[in-house]
Amino acid sequence: MDRSPSDTSAGCLGIALVAAIVAILLLAARSPGLRVRTAGHAAVLLPKASSTVTPSPTTTHTATPTASPTNTPTASPTATQAPTRTVPPSVSPSPTHTPLPTHTPSPTAAPTPTPTSLPLPTPDGAERELIVPILMYHYISEPPNNADEYRLDLSVRPADFEAHLAYMRSAGYTGISLYHLLDALAWGRSLPEKPVIITLDDGYRDNYESAFPLLKEYGYTATFFILTEPIDHNSERYMTWNQIEEMVAAGMDFEPHTKTHPDLRDRSHDFLVWQVLGSAQTVQAHTGRYPRFFAYPSGRYDDAVLEFLEEINFWGAVTTWSGAVHTWESRYQLRRVRVKGGDSAAVVAEKLQWGP
Ligand SMILES: [Zn+2]
Repeated sequence: MDRSPSDTSAGCLGIALVAAIVAILLLAARSPGLRVRTAGHAAVLLPKASSTVTPSPTTTHTATPTASPTNTPTASPTATQAPTRTVPPSVSPSPTHTPLPTHTPSPTAAPTPTPTSLPLPTPDGAERELIVPILMYHYISEPPNNADEYRLDLSVRPADFEAHLAYMRSAGYTGISLYHLLDALAWGRSLPEKPVIITLDDGYRDNYESAFPLLKEYGYTATFFILTEPIDHNSERYMTWNQIEEMVAAGMDFEPHTKTHPDLRDRSHDFLVWQVLGSAQTVQAHTGRYPRFFAYPSGRYDDAVLEFLEEINFWGAVTTWSGAVHTWESRYQLRRVRVKGGDSAAVVAEKLQWGP
């Protein structure tokens, strides 16, 4: 992008945004064609105009949409993902919201590649119920000697993880992404006969050291839901941004899991802006792509969180509820299949069959 946010003073930006918002409101009053998101929910002005490109049934998450000529002026500031940018005011309907300075991505952020923004798939109205197991992993490593029962439960040994992948490959399971699943739910994109989605929560360092080489070896990709603050602080327990960028280049998906893993229930809008949108923007600063999926920390959320994800134009979110049946309506409460420490390939084979 050739735009430099630093040459616009905050005052000018504020005036420009107010003017742009007034212009949009006037335009909305006159033009029914103003692009708002209406996919089965209350129309919401999109916080990111580049996501308002005309949805294409052939778009995949690797596609690079071209900017629509209908982009509104408010789009311009949000289209540039410079590491220093702050949250656009249009994200928050609350006039009292002040973007927190810590929304700025870490100064260690690499130069941002050209952002690719994806349009929400437009549902064709057909009701679909798809069975796709979304496996949920956390640690892929030997648990420490002093591990408590929770840590043991969350720790899958690399040899077991390899056995799971080997089983899935031999049984004909094809790895797909959450983007594929949403396309399938929205407009019937075809899925392989035995689809599986592999997810790993929290962003532990062993995901890079142990899971990543095995995923590549067995020909699977995975979605990593990461906590951005410990990564920003270079915590040794978590992956580094350099490692994550290497994994992105190898086809892995990275989506936010908040900054610090808080309970998101009964929180203010500003708190959600900080934890959810803030972590999403940090992920974007390092991957070059605005994330579209979220994992609720410890599976906890309330209606305000569900509404907020729509507000910031997310496509869906995964829970810790058990199950493998998905519908368009359930896209913000996708169920998963928990893989526990000690699960053999035979146990995973059984869990993959869960279905309804
Ligand atoms: Zn977690």
